[in-house]
Amino acid sequence: MVRWLLFLLCCLGAAAQAAVSLPAAQDSVVIGRQLQYVESERPVAEIMSLPASAWQQNPDTVFNRGYSRSSWWLRFSLANTAYAAPQQLLEISYPVLDEVDVWIFRGQELMARYALGDKHRFTDRLLQHRFFLVPVNLQSGTELTVLLKVRSSSSVQVPLALWNERRYFEQDQWHLLGHGLFFGIMGLMVLYSFFVFLALRDRTYLYYTFFIFSMMAFLASLKGLSFQFVWPTATHWNDRVLLVTLASTVAFGGLFTLRFMRMPELLPRISRATLTVVAVAVLMMVAAFFVAYDVLMRPMIVMAGISCVFLLFAGLWCWRQGDRSARLYTIAWGSMLLGGVVLSLNKFDVLPSNFLTENATQVGTTLEVILLAFAIVERINEERRLRFRAQEETLASERRVYEAQSQALIAQREANELLEQRVRARTEELQIANAKLEELSATDQLTGVRNRRYLDRVLQEEYARAYRYRDQIAVLLLDIDHFKRFNDVWGHQVGDDCLRQVAAVMMEAVRAPIDHVARYGGEEFCIVMPQTAAEGAAIVAERIRLAVEAMAFVVDGKNLPVTISIGVAAHIPSLMEGSRDLMKQADIALYQAKGDGRNRVITARA
Ligand code: GH3
Ligand code: MG
Ligand code: MG
Repeated sequence: MVRWLLFLLCCLGAAAQAAVSLPAAQDSVVIGRQLQYVESERPVAEIMSLPASAWQQNPDTVFNRGYSRSSWWLRFSLANTAYAAPQQLLEISYPVLDEVDVWIFRGQELMARYALGDKHRFTDRLLQHRFFLVPVNLQSGTELTVLLKVRSSSSVQVPLALWNERRYFEQDQWHLLGHGLFFGIMGLMVLYSFFVFLALRDRTYLYYTFFIFSMMAFLASLKGLSFQFVWPTATHWNDRVLLVTLASTVAFGGLFTLRFMRMPELLPRISRATLTVVAVAVLMMVAAFFVAYDVLMRPMIVMAGISCVFLLFAGLWCWRQGDRSARLYTIAWGSMLLGGVVLSLNKFDVLPSNFLTENATQVGTTLEVILLAFAIVERINEERRLRFRAQEETLASERRVYEAQSQALIAQREANELLEQRVRARTEELQIANAKLEELSATDQLTGVRNRRYLDRVLQEEYARAYRYRDQIAVLLLDIDHFKRFNDVWGHQVGDDCLRQVAAVMMEAVRAPIDHVARYGGEEFCIVMPQTAAEGAAIVAERIRLAVEAMAFVVDGKNLPVTISIGVAAHIPSLMEGSRDLMKQADIALYQAKGDGRNRVITARA
């Protein structure tokens, strides 16, 4: 009877502290509400002898004390009542805990002791895994008590689970694949944005590179991956890395947004506030190496949250202003925030735990970086479009300038042509006037034949040509007979008429324009005949004499007889300046004609 009572009490005690047992058909079981805890700095021996009343029951599925510097003792029992495989694992899936000491007892006998936590080098871990894993050999029918001592400057949360060892590592493959995918995408985005920066030399994309890199480092450290794969022995750095990377994520996220959204121009006030956040983040990044983790982490998380919401609103505002890439930016930022919200709701048991909610941050972040990459592409496109339009406008204005220039050229050419035409016309007029003037200056006013000035010139020219070509040249000197008397009787007016009429008869009788008829002076005329020998000249002279003789010169109804005497001289010049001699011979011949009785032609002897 007493034995039965004792057994019942034992059962009640066990019920108060029910042993965790992994059902045979299940891969894992969460250890939460079965936990008992006590906050104490006493050594393990004293903790072991604490009365049952000193222990408190954990009310949640995850033991979570937030930020606390105390030592927290947790205890629970493990049993294998369902014939599950004895190779089991105790998993603590929060890899940033500083110190986790584990004792495993069977009854009062210490079976194993492990010192875990990221204050120890990763390489010292019994199971080299990103989480803290404790192997448990749980034979059927045995019961073990597990005692944990947890101290951490990070938030004290201890997500515990008991696993079938084999199933754990099988499932872990999938998690690793997921992490590989996530960090692979992030790594690609880092490279992509860095190449965009190299190509465009725009600091925006360098900030973006650092932003993703920081976020990637932050998440990898939070998941314990960087400690495992990147710096397994750098415990001090590993302790600080979350602070540094979170601060730099905020700083570079802010800097990227400032430049990407052109906030200083569009939203000067929010832009100044963002710059302040960036400055504070940079200060915190430096402080991360000196200030205690929990002192800095809490304000940093607050700041990260505020700046996230802040930048989301900046994105919304720019989106409302009609910026195309702001739309993508806002959705990107929103999806990351949503990831955070979903994770929190999951942690507070509002949302069910599944792949999406468990990995909401990663999914949100992946969406974010991909959407931001699109936003960057869109921004680059937009800038190219603007540049193209600017180029087109420049081209168009250049074309307009060119057209205006060519029109000006055409106008100038036309003006020049007009001017030339006018000048040509004026020149022609002038030439005609000149010719007329020359004609006039070479013409005898009274008779209309050439004057003495012309005769002198033409005689010299013709004589020189005859000299050059060894040609004959002839001159005729003609004098009206008894003209003085004529004048005296009938008056000068009639004398002038006579001169005119005789000149007209002479002009008719010679072969103009080769022969030149000129008034020599008074009532004397001279005819220069190029390429004419003395015989020919004499014939022409005779013809003129006859024509004058036959001329009817009527004054007051009376026909007055008019005769002329002609002296002819011709030769081939032997001197260039021999025209005076020729004239002199003609004059002598004329003189002889007068002497021989007038109205006759006398040819000088060669
Ligand atoms: P000869 O037969 O010897 O030649 O006798 P001539 O009277 O003709 O003599 P001379 O040659 O000396 O006379 C020239 C005269 O011609 C003098 C002048 O009265 C006249 N005379 C000269 N020039 C003009 C002129 O332009 N008009 C007129 N009406 N008479 C002129
Ligand atoms: Mg005379
Ligand atoms: Mg005379």
